Amino acid sequence: ETQKETLGFQTEVKQLLHLMIHSLYSNKEIFLRELISNASDAVDKLRFESVSNADLLSEDPNLRVRLEFDNEAGTVIIDDNGIGMNRDDAINNLGTIAKSGTAQFLEQLSGDQKKDSQLIGQFGVGFYSAFIVADKVTVETRKAGAATDEAVRWESSGDGDFTIEAIEKETRGTRITLHLKADEKDFADNYRLRSLVTKYSDHISIPVEMEKVVYPEMDEEGNPKPVDENQAVEFEAVNSAKALWTRARSEVSDEEYSEFYKHVSHDFQDPIKWSHNKVEGKLEYTSLLYVPSKAPHDLWNRDMQRGLKLYVQRVFIMDEAEAFLPPYMRFVKGVVDSNDLSLNVSREILQNDKAVDSMRSALTKRVLDMLSKMAKNESEKYQTFWDEFGNVLKEGPADDFGNKDKIAQLLRFSTTHTDKAEQTESLAGYVERMSEGQDKIYYIYAENHNTAKNSPHLEILRKKGFEVLLLSDRIDEWMMSSLQEFDGKKFQDVTKGKLDLAEDETEEAKKEKEQKAEEIKPLLDRMKAVLEEQVTDVTSTDRLTNSPACLVVGEYDMGLQMRRLLEQAGQ
Ligand code: ADP
Ligand code: MG
Repeated sequence: ETQKETLGFQTEVKQLLHLMIHSLYSNKEIFLRELISNASDAVDKLRFESVSNADLLSEDPNLRVRLEFDNEAGTVIIDDNGIGMNRDDAINNLGTIAKSGTAQFLEQLSGDQKKDSQLIGQFGVGFYSAFIVADKVTVETRKAGAATDEAVRWESSGDGDFTIEAIEKETRGTRITLHLKADEKDFADNYRLRSLVTKYSDHISIPVEMEKVVYPEMDEEGNPKPVDENQAVEFEAVNSAKALWTRARSEVSDEEYSEFYKHVSHDFQDPIKWSHNKVEGKLEYTSLLYVPSKAPHDLWNRDMQRGLKLYVQRVFIMDEAEAFLPPYMRFVKGVVDSNDLSLNVSREILQNDKAVDSMRSALTKRVLDMLSKMAKNESEKYQTFWDEFGNVLKEGPADDFGNKDKIAQLLRFSTTHTDKAEQTESLAGYVERMSEGQDKIYYIYAENHNTAKNSPHLEILRKKGFEVLLLSDRIDEWMMSSLQEFDGKKFQDVTKGKLDLAEDETEEAKKEKEQKAEEIKPLLDRMKAVLEEQVTDVTSTDRLTNSPACLVVGEYDMGLQMRRLLEQAGQ
């Protein structure tokens, strides 16, 4: 159909557009990075499709993005010869937000622009950032393989709806025209655009081209000769157009690593750490792994989209290849480029591939090493990391038994050493502070920090000067069930069974205690009879100093928190 149709944006898009235009104005130049990033993704997708269908490339084999501008008209154009979109693609990709968790994200917004602009940074806005600088955006696009008259034009002023119509388009790919707002017209400038490409998009692996500036020749009197109007326009690459991970570490600046991170992660903030490695030998691959500085809003969902961008011999294969890292490292972003896998590799094949298995264990070690180094050399930074991602790392001991000890080194706890809720203490620190005669690492587990901290179970340990880990995160009990010992010291739940704290007792003291126990036996028996329905046993203890009584769980019983969880689940 050639008719022009008007369609409404999804509600979330409207909210997002409004928010973005009003909160990202201080950082508006990022629109160019986002649009070039999309163009580069589109070219990657085409290159991948062409592995099985070479014809797709043949009409226009030199993959690139082009920037054009017209300072009189006040337009900037981003033109790519990538995969393109058909009508349905355009409606779905440019009219809705497919990302999971969008609704929750929007609920978190406070209306406070400063806070919201940080949130939006985490969310990533992509294509819609065009509306920060443009009051009209025109997208003309033709999908690879489609006929010239099967192209579409999508157009919107960013205020509620967009139009879509069928058009003819000679070339494959997507051409986006930004009609700049009156006060943003200075983006339509050769120097401005070139410096933005250098700043944000130098790492893009295809050429980002701009028209070559042709200086007119001079005549004998030093005046410019008239330029031949019919001379074909020449383009030149403005970026270095080399996949960043293929470059030597020493040749890549921190800024470039950061910008590349934003491209692969669709995150707006700088990463906190990265590790770039080339592996040669039996397996050959290059990896560039990043730790973000902020947790995404859906991090707690173990099913969140995760994984690395996979390339095989520089050819993009897929996003979110999850087979290269275990679930508890789902916060890691980055790229892996393998020389051993086939270009036709699928997700299913990745799940059962020996090479992938060994890459996974090597990459897992890399991440653990990167974190260990950070913990050792940059403890403040590590603390920031822990505050954002610690709860995911806590899944590690259960997920990845082989690396249990390494992971244990990385854990941070709230303990009676500080009595603060912040998780700042390492197990190594705990062990260093252990008192003479202490051979266990004690912990208590409760619904929240205050309950843990104030538990009567801690009285005797506090009196003895034995430090106790104060656990109150939901994941903690699961984690402790996989951690048997650290540095040869067993973990002991202070609410379970006997505490064996009295090893240093003299014979005399022991006798005295036995005698006392005899004396109070009738009392205990009576209490037991009264509480028959509620408890399995009543015993005397020396674990209390201030409280008269406390409830304990049998040595081999389920922990309290696990019970509560099961009860909540109706078990
Ligand atoms: P993201 O890049 O994170 O997926 P964007 O908002 O930047 O989100 O883009 C939304 C979608 O629109 C992309 O996933 C892609 O499917 C489509 N798209 C955007 N730009 C292009 C382009 N130049 N060529 C083809 N598809 C595009
Ligand atoms: Mg994008």
